[in-house]
Amino acid sequence: MNYSLRKRILVTGGAGFLGSHLCERLLAEGHDVICLDNFFTGTKDNIAHLLENRYFELMRHDVTFPLYVEVDEIYNLACPASPIHYQFDPVQTTKTSVHGAINMLGLAKRVKAKIFQASTSEVYGDPAIHPQPEHYWGHVNPIGPRSCYDEGKRCAETLFFDYRRQNNLKIKVARIFNTYGPRMHPNDGRVVSNFIVQALRNEPITIYGEGTQTRSFCYVDDLIEGFIRLMDSPDDLTGPVNLGNPGEFTMIELAETVLELTGSRSALVHVALPQDDPKQRQPDIGLARARLGWEPRVALRDGLTSTIEYFDGFLRGVRGDA
Ligand code: NAD
Ligand code: UDP
Ligand code: UDP
Repeated sequence: MNYSLRKRILVTGGAGFLGSHLCERLLAEGHDVICLDNFFTGTKDNIAHLLENRYFELMRHDVTFPLYVEVDEIYNLACPASPIHYQFDPVQTTKTSVHGAINMLGLAKRVKAKIFQASTSEVYGDPAIHPQPEHYWGHVNPIGPRSCYDEGKRCAETLFFDYRRQNNLKIKVARIFNTYGPRMHPNDGRVVSNFIVQALRNEPITIYGEGTQTRSFCYVDDLIEGFIRLMDSPDDLTGPVNLGNPGEFTMIELAETVLELTGSRSALVHVALPQDDPKQRQPDIGLARARLGWEPRVALRDGLTSTIEYFDGFLRGVRGDA
């Protein structure tokens, strides 16, 4: 590549599910990548295949502490994402979102870097409108067990917009909806990983409730394309921008597709529906379509096929990346 186009890019949470795919993509584009992680939920296995690349640098660091590096862009992804992980140490989760954002924004301010925040559809809480557009302010419980994540992410968004107003920082805020793909955690209790692992082991597939509730699942490669387009968009586009796949499926449809693709003998069993389980969650991606020319391309069946292949290797002790 043209040397002058090579950017120095910091990815916090770079050893996690989304972060490892982002590092891979940025390296493929010829950039110099610093992957920062404290390995709370991320693993060295996720980025082992990148260590040989001399433009890849791995740094063990916790974003709640200051960091002094010289970079052109920052993608701030550090934060546990699934309920069992973020509820393990809720105070640390809030610190990671809030102190982590302050430190990364302070760094961006000092080195004049453009900075991207991985926010979440959870900022909409238990939404009163479907699908959720970016101008919906949300319906979040500030004191419940999920608040450390939801409110931490909301406060991080506030900090991003205040740093922009006070210091004229170049900010990009993405609100990410359910994403799946290789390197997602096999034991984090999410529906895609649960169904695939159960199917591969020929164990019963656990449908919570009737299984008529719907969700929208975005394949990781589509999401990363959205990240890059948002980061490279004109400075007036700060976000928040919803990124997700609007295609809706019932949990029964998801289970049947997983069974078919794995050729599994698992039975479907119905277990109790968790309290407050939303009937529907679907992104409104009108803004991303209009301003980024972005929409998901990978069909659920195709994305599930790659994800199943990864989990199959993982369960047999073979990493897909090696
Ligand atoms: P993940 O748990 O795989 O990745 C998070 C990474 O951050 C891990 O590698 C973890 O070790 C690291 N980390 C956590 N706390 C840290 C700290 N204090 N200092 C440094 N590193 C730390 O989760 P993911 O699915 O890859 O999510 C990445 C980001 O995207 C998160 O901010 C998450 O909130 C957001 N997000 C993800 C989804 C999704 O569907 N996967 C949806 C909405 C938002
Ligand atoms: N910070 C950092 N790296 C830098 C610059 C700042 O980690 O290169 C941290 C710094 O420790 C501070 C935070 O970012 O706590 C916010 O910085 P800012 O300059 O906005 O505020 P101040 O230093 O005035 O508190
Ligand atoms: N779900 C299920 N079986 C499982 C795990 C989850 O039927 O083994 C359902 C769950 O009740 C919810 C949907 O799948 O309706 C998505 O759950 P997940 O925890 O993956 O994500 P979220 O609820 O945050 O969208």
